[in-house]
Amino acid sequence: MKIIDLRSDTVTRPTETMRQAMFEAELGDDVYGEDPTVNRLQELAADMASKEAALFVPSGTQGNLLAILSHCQRGEEYIAGQQAHCYRYEAGGAAVFGGVQPQPVDFEENGSLDLAKIAAAIKPIDEHFAITRLLCLENTRGGRVLALDYQAEASAFAKLHGLKLHLDGARVFNAAVSQQVPLSQITQHYDSISICLSKGLGAPVGSVLVGSQEFIARAHRWRKMAGGGMRQAGVLAAAGIHALENNVLRLCEDHRNARELAAGLSEIDGLDVDMDAVETNMVFVTMDSDRQVNLLTYLKERGILAGGYDQLRLVTHHDFDASDIPKVVDAVKDFCTK
Ligand SMILES: *Cc1c(COP(=O)(O)O)cnc(C)c1O
Repeated sequence: MKIIDLRSDTVTRPTETMRQAMFEAELGDDVYGEDPTVNRLQELAADMASKEAALFVPSGTQGNLLAILSHCQRGEEYIAGQQAHCYRYEAGGAAVFGGVQPQPVDFEENGSLDLAKIAAAIKPIDEHFAITRLLCLENTRGGRVLALDYQAEASAFAKLHGLKLHLDGARVFNAAVSQQVPLSQITQHYDSISICLSKGLGAPVGSVLVGSQEFIARAHRWRKMAGGGMRQAGVLAAAGIHALENNVLRLCEDHRNARELAAGLSEIDGLDVDMDAVETNMVFVTMDSDRQVNLLTYLKERGILAGGYDQLRLVTHHDFDASDIPKVVDAVKDFCTK
């Protein structure tokens, strides 16, 4: 039975041509800065983001961690969304390794953080308080794309308040493709951006962190400390280069598939699918939690994997084919009419 895996876009496996690129990669010791393929990936990523420098890191989690540790000192804090990956889903790394405390603020429906709420969360200079140093946004957030205007406002806001601005851009290419703008139109607003190669872009491993030369030099030291200095990492970076060169524009197929899947599901009685929220490659379905657990089990028995916490989450990706859409819709319909 062919498994249809909609749990995440992280489940993609490298294609034959990507594996070929990995196989043929020129290698060296990247801890000595001598891996030509890693260097090429870093130059390409910096170039696409219009930043001075980039650093290849093993994961998006490490990219966010290095960014927070590079922007903030012990006793300082970063503001992030209540359900932000860099706060909620990274095991408290910034607090554990850096003594940097998070200050969460509720997300708005559209994935943004309200600037007035952030202003209220910024601590006055007073020895009672941690020093607010950094604001972290997420784009895409739950599949939602941050408006370009909003990001420009957030950037001006951060400057006004003396904050650095980091983007958890795990899926920032999905945002750029959805808005039909070059990546740099988004990244120009940020001091640093962490970008996953291992999600919709289809590489097996890795992320890149981009920013100024001086910022990346600090992140490089933290990467070494965090055990992220990898040797002949070009074998992985080659997959990243292949992903950046071949898999960016095709993200619009994932977005189209997500819309089609959502449209199919929205016609099923008793399911609540927010069509307006389907801006990129994620579909969320709201149902009561017992029913959701039963549906997940029902689908799994039919070779369809889905996930999610409060809501059912279906994520389209490179290894999900449009021809799978009716199979998923029919299986959910069968469950609902049983
Ligand atoms: C996946 C993800 C990350 C972390 O990436 P890993 O490579 O899994 O560590 C960070 N932020 C967001 C929003 C993500 O979806």
